[in-house]
Amino acid sequence: MPFADIQGHDRIIEVLRRSLKSGKTAHSYLFEGVAGCGRKKTALALIQALFCKSSLDDACGICPSCRKIDGGNHPDIHLLAPLPDKRDISIDQLRELQRELSLRPYEAPRKACIIDPAERLNVNSANSLLKTLEEPPGNALIILLTENAGMLLPTIRSRCQLIRFAPLSPEHITSLLERNGMPPETAALVAPMSGGSFQKAMELDNELLIGRREAVLSRVSKLDIGRIATVFDAAEELSGNRDSTLELLDMLLSFFRDAVHLGAGNREIVNRSVTPAIESIAARRSFPRNLELLEQIYETRRAVQRNANSKLALDHLFMTMADNSR
Ligand SMILES: [Zn+2]
Repeated sequence: MPFADIQGHDRIIEVLRRSLKSGKTAHSYLFEGVAGCGRKKTALALIQALFCKSSLDDACGICPSCRKIDGGNHPDIHLLAPLPDKRDISIDQLRELQRELSLRPYEAPRKACIIDPAERLNVNSANSLLKTLEEPPGNALIILLTENAGMLLPTIRSRCQLIRFAPLSPEHITSLLERNGMPPETAALVAPMSGGSFQKAMELDNELLIGRREAVLSRVSKLDIGRIATVFDAAEELSGNRDSTLELLDMLLSFFRDAVHLGAGNREIVNRSVTPAIESIAARRSFPRNLELLEQIYETRRAVQRNANSKLALDHLFMTMADNSR
């Protein structure tokens, strides 16, 4: 897939294209970012651009070389990953890679390899890779993918050009999901829960999320400071471990963002299939009050992220949401 088709990493792609144009690409890169955010796609696009003869700074996507890369069967690209049911990338695998890289390329100007995930190199294989990074045989390009560069040996890190990938924004994930055939409604529900990873978004269980959304809307609509049990029951039912509480807060954020949109007269909301429920959130309090609550949910999310107690944080948030006298 050429750079032109990659979503959400414009600045990184700009940097890579500029280095391609000036012929100053690095020999080894370290792409750091959450799994599923597009690191491997970008790595393959970089290799595709280097191999493609049509232009300097991007691939054409249609020549035989480009098509082989898209099909995953270019003979000059080597992917190094732990063998099935093995934890580490072994020294034997590393030696095999070094042997491959030392051979003349079959058809490309040079060989390339992607090591994914690089944190699975054990001490022996990492040490053996050092030599290769210092003097890549035949000018080979080496791209390491990792979720956390801090987990690699400093000597590996210092020999690579580090490129940090930000998590994909919910908007980019939504559009990628829709491109993959997901209905816009479902995509809008799933995207904020994905942590910036397209892969995770695809793996999320939609049925489960839809059920959870119903439960959250039902609890939130019943919050009533006059019946304090509605507050504590909601917190009891909806709080969980840190991750599930963050997920809940993301959902609340998306409801209140929509309610604020409706309040401002904008009908373009993401939670379209539950419009009546969102309308009732919007109508229940004044517009400034809904804005305040939106900020309060953000604040709660930050607190939970910093390890605040989930149940207590939700008690407090729901108490504030239940109090409509303010
Ligand atoms: Zn091409």
